[in-house]
Amino acid sequence: MRKRCRNVVNDSREALHTLATLMPQLTAHRSLQEMLEIVSRKLGAALAWISVDDESGSPQVVSTGEIACHSFEVTHFLASTLLARHARAWRVICWKEKVGETLFIPLHPGYSQLQSGVLCKIISHDGACSGYFFLGFTERLNTLSLLKPVAVIVVDKLKDYFAEIIARERMAREMQRVVTQYKILFERAPVLMNSFDKGNRCVLWNAECQKIFGWTMAEINSHPDPLMLFYPDEEVRRRMRASFSDAPLSDMSEWHPLRRDGTPLTVLWSNILLPDRSVLSIGLDITERKKAEQQLALKATTDDLTGCLNRSTILQELKQRQEAGRPFCVLMFDLDYFKQINDEWGHQVGDAALVHFCDRLRELSQPHAALGRVGGEEFLLLVQGDSKTAVVLCETLRASLLARPLLVGDNALVLSFSSGVVVVGRGQRDSSALLIRADKALYDAKRSGRGKTVISDDHL
Ligand code: GH3
Ligand code: MG
Ligand code: MG
Repeated sequence: MRKRCRNVVNDSREALHTLATLMPQLTAHRSLQEMLEIVSRKLGAALAWISVDDESGSPQVVSTGEIACHSFEVTHFLASTLLARHARAWRVICWKEKVGETLFIPLHPGYSQLQSGVLCKIISHDGACSGYFFLGFTERLNTLSLLKPVAVIVVDKLKDYFAEIIARERMAREMQRVVTQYKILFERAPVLMNSFDKGNRCVLWNAECQKIFGWTMAEINSHPDPLMLFYPDEEVRRRMRASFSDAPLSDMSEWHPLRRDGTPLTVLWSNILLPDRSVLSIGLDITERKKAEQQLALKATTDDLTGCLNRSTILQELKQRQEAGRPFCVLMFDLDYFKQINDEWGHQVGDAALVHFCDRLRELSQPHAALGRVGGEEFLLLVQGDSKTAVVLCETLRASLLARPLLVGDNALVLSFSSGVVVVGRGQRDSSALLIRADKALYDAKRSGRGKTVISDDHL
């Protein structure tokens, strides 16, 4: 009776029934250990093991059942069994009795307990043997011929399971490789990369971000709204959030986040909204490039010596102000007897005098005034206001040059200038006619004794 209870394959009907209930349980989501437990329980085995070669060709053994069995015992058993049966091509080998004596050493409890056994080759899809499956029983079974096909069917099922597991592991390895590559790229690329989840937590912060911004990821996340660290202005933060897009990006846009020390950066960002509503940002720090560009632009528009706008830029500015249509004043200045300063004090003092004149003029000018050098010691100033504004400005400048003369050693050099003023009304668009008028007024100031301001009363 005991035998009938343990081994549930006593006739072919039972074999079919066992298979029918066993097969649906052998699914790939189970571990191999679990599958072996199910098989051995269903078939009443005291030991079940499987030995499969891994990618490097070394056998991996998984065993289950009330009789303990180790990897080395399996390897040894397979070596002796296979050697003995080497000559014959076989699929299944059965032991009616005493299989424990082949598998274990005499001291092992299984040596005497294990009687019958079935060993089945695992044949892979290309026809090669990729491993072995063994079931051991403590009874001497008379129904081994029934167990053989059952074992073969179970092994075929397990073979599919292995193929799936191997493919899954290969895929996992490939994924791991890709993840590692991206991690290296992410960490080492000289590109800013970070990601914030939908709750505004920073989840990725690469080494370049830490280097450029000066914050670590932990420091950022200790702030209730990390974006505030970079964009203190609420409106800028709103625009930044509005720029997160899941549409393909055509370009990067320029932002000015603050670094930890409060200095602004110029960064080109692409903010990509991911399906889980987190945001991945990729950025380029162009602060230095931008500074260099700005310096170049400044150099191209300013006069090296005095720091005023250069000739072409002030003339361009004049045109723009004329086109804007708002009334303004043009003041043309020329230093008096400047040649004498050069002759008497030298060219360097002459240079210092030009700078001194411009500094005094800049001190007095409105914030939106434009000052440019149009010739050697000739300057053009554009200011808002009427002729009175211009006259007051010229008188204040004369007073300033008197109060603060250019000091050359112990000598104080009071600079004198003449100026011609043109009041530009609405709709006066001809800048060369305007310059002729200014020049004429200036000439009149010179002719009438220098150190004077003349308002042009000509009309276009
Ligand atoms: P006026 O009162 O009629 O304007 O006489 P002026 O001597 O100021 O005018 P003039 O045109 O005779 O001389 C201008 C001088 O300015 C001649 C030139 O050498 C000098 N000059 C022009 N550019 C510079 C400069 O960049 N640095 C120095 N030191 N001198 C300059
Ligand atoms: Mg001159
Ligand atoms: Mg002069």
